[in-house]
Amino acid sequence: MGAERDGTNASIGFDGDGAESEDGTESDEPRVVVIGGGIIGCMVARELADTHRVLVLERDGIAQGATARAAGEITMVPSYPDYPSIATHGLDFFRAYDGTGAFEFAEIPSVELVTPEREETVRARVERQRGNGVDVAFLEAADARDRWPGIDMDEFVGVARYGGTGHVDPYTLATTVQSEATEAGARFETDVTVNGLVVDGAAGTGDAAIVGVGTDDHGTIECDHVVAAAGWRTRDLLADHLQLPIRPYRTQCLVLRPPEDLPSSFPMGWIPGEHVYFRPEANGDLLVGGWSFAEDDPDGASRSADEAFRDHVAALVPRFVDSPGPMRLVDGWAGVDGATPDTRPIIDAPDDAPDGLIVASGFHGRGIMTSPVAATLIRCLLEGSEPPFPREPFLLDRFDDRSADFEFFSISAGN
Ligand SMILES: Cc1cc2nc3c(=O)[nH]c(=O)nc-3n(C[C@H](O)[C@H](O)[C@H](O)COP(=O)(O)OP(=O)(O)OC[C@H]3O[C@@H](n4cnc5c(N)ncnc54)[C@H](O)[C@@H]3O)c2cc1C
Repeated sequence: MGAERDGTNASIGFDGDGAESEDGTESDEPRVVVIGGGIIGCMVARELADTHRVLVLERDGIAQGATARAAGEITMVPSYPDYPSIATHGLDFFRAYDGTGAFEFAEIPSVELVTPEREETVRARVERQRGNGVDVAFLEAADARDRWPGIDMDEFVGVARYGGTGHVDPYTLATTVQSEATEAGARFETDVTVNGLVVDGAAGTGDAAIVGVGTDDHGTIECDHVVAAAGWRTRDLLADHLQLPIRPYRTQCLVLRPPEDLPSSFPMGWIPGEHVYFRPEANGDLLVGGWSFAEDDPDGASRSADEAFRDHVAALVPRFVDSPGPMRLVDGWAGVDGATPDTRPIIDAPDDAPDGLIVASGFHGRGIMTSPVAATLIRCLLEGSEPPFPREPFLLDRFDDRSADFEFFSISAGN
């Protein structure tokens, strides 16, 4: 339901509303409410804090949703092979941000392990992508064995090796970004649930304009723009105003300890058809993620990894990791993110949405790596400028059907 317009509560609002800035003038920077304090909300707040008054409203704690549970893989290059400028934009951010506070970007290659039956398809794809400037090469099994002795190549004819990939700690990223945003003037309020948009004009007609958001305990908070970055909850939150083809899905991670640390050269990678991806941990452990399914009960879904996933990984790992003995399970968890029909997010100010609304949701397992792209695009949408990469893959109107009843595609199933 949309929120009632019931006056502004003074306890939460915008710094500068009616207040004078340092040079004695009243602040007239546009007021942006960001709904959701996950990586997207934090990154948007950091991006906008120097030119806008930014208030992030988070129903829980900062980076406690999907963001806290992410594996932290940064695989923009294989994820956006059709849009190298998008991949580069994300990658450039992580390279430049490495070393900010406690944040680190560990840049290591990613390998797709190739079985004999997929060899022809993968070789052709690699050639095509190389022609488009993607940093990828096909390596024969013997070369892969020499380069990455920790990978057991017996079942594989080779690998597709992608450069410009790596991993991060998502929580450290989010909190570092949040801290920079705060220093630049953005405000973060936790334990505040937004229950709807407040608009002038009839909801759902395309003639409405944002004037604020309604909250459970703090009434209406007036603003000029809203960035809806509420993860998988975004669809329901905006349902009175806009239909979004986003559905929740559940995905999982396990951490395994080998009897000896993984070799320092151990790459990240994935095995199409097995629904898993993997990467080394900084301490020599192995993280295995994947096993993703559409989730009809996202609030009630277990946050623990499934037994079936544990069994699958226990049987699979000895087939691709050359370990001197069995590995021990040391951690496991599951989390819920938002999926779209084509696996790419919706980052857009749609024509039929209320003026002032920007949607940033449906990150489909790639929200950590795509967050710098989302932040840049949102600034461009607010300023009416062109982003340094194509907008097309993020537009809502690429979908003819906005129903959430689409078939879920797991990105860890392969490409
Ligand atoms: C197990 C797992 C592994 C993953 N691995 C990777 C990976 O390796 N690389 C990668 O790039 N991505 C990965 N992801 C995906 C990534 O975590 C998400 O795409 C990303 O965190 C989405 O960020 P977000 O800010 O949109 O959502 P979230 O982090 O879920 O944040 C949304 C926030 O909005 C808040 N909120 C919701 N409704 C309201 C409301 N009404 N009012 C106020 N606040 C509200 C929520 O409490 C939440 O904190 C993984 C996800 C999972 C679960």
